[in-house]
Amino acid sequence: MVLAQLSRSISRAMQQMNNTTVVDEKVLNDCLNEISRALLQADVQFSMVRDMQTNIKKIVNLDDIAAGHNKRRIIQQAIFNELCKMLDPGKPLFTPMKGKSSVIMFVGLQGSGKTTTCTKYAYYHQKKGWRPALVCADTFRAGAFDQLKQNATKAKIPFYGSYMESDPVKIAGEGVERFKKEDYDLIIVDTSGRHKQEAALFEEMRQVAEITKPDLVIFVMDSSIGQAAFDQAQAFKQSVSVGAVIITKMDGHAKGGGSLSAVAATKSPVIFIGTGEHMDEFEVFDVESFVRRLLG
Ligand code: GDP
Repeated sequence: MVLAQLSRSISRAMQQMNNTTVVDEKVLNDCLNEISRALLQADVQFSMVRDMQTNIKKIVNLDDIAAGHNKRRIIQQAIFNELCKMLDPGKPLFTPMKGKSSVIMFVGLQGSGKTTTCTKYAYYHQKKGWRPALVCADTFRAGAFDQLKQNATKAKIPFYGSYMESDPVKIAGEGVERFKKEDYDLIIVDTSGRHKQEAALFEEMRQVAEITKPDLVIFVMDSSIGQAAFDQAQAFKQSVSVGAVIITKMDGHAKGGGSLSAVAATKSPVIFIGTGEHMDEFEVFDVESFVRRLLG
């Protein structure tokens, strides 16, 4: 996958720096330029790459590093920290607690993997002893309810939806109310996605949020959308209060850089990544190990 290419390019840049006898301004610049090029190729936004460069140069003041200190290590640490910072805007807005009803609303464009991810998220928590339930408020895409129903049945997770009702707000409200009464502790609401960031989608999302009062809104993003990641994530954030991000299809040809941009746009952390079509191809996202992998 292309994430591996990014990782290779970055570790090559670090290696080149390690191979030089004296670390001076030029060596540092060459290394940073190489890393920046790799990040841009992986679809990280230009302004983020530029800020990273500026910050590292501010931290690593070569003239001020006393003799005997390992400049390479200081540079490596600064690069590691900056990349982590890019991916770590702090905790999600809300962390659900077992035994207490929480409503989690999923938003994202059609095809991003939203419906699949709702079940993965439910299944993940069910295995850890939670009582999740799924509400299908996607009445726009034909087959969305069937898909959710099928996945939910396979995972033995209760679900709510309707073939007849075309008002997603009504379904969302009824589903959440029912599962709250039945004391489910993780009520997951799947919403409609559209191809484009159209006004109707956002209006519908706002109404679903109004009636379900989600404790957490999770923005689901396909890792392969590239440079469009920032604008797309920002558009969602402006309409509903996104508190966490899940990046899907990290197993494919994803460049991975889009995740950095989504985090920047939503100011929310990535909490999980999807690594395949199956229910259990889902991993907790850990910033430091992700960056360590990038650095090779
Ligand atoms: P939605 O329109 O956003 O609800 O998207 P779906 O959940 O229907 O997913 C669209 C397609 O992406 C389906 O074929 C899924 O199986 C696939 N998909 C979802 N997540 C992943 C993932 O992490 N990896 C891969 N390879 N495919 C995924």
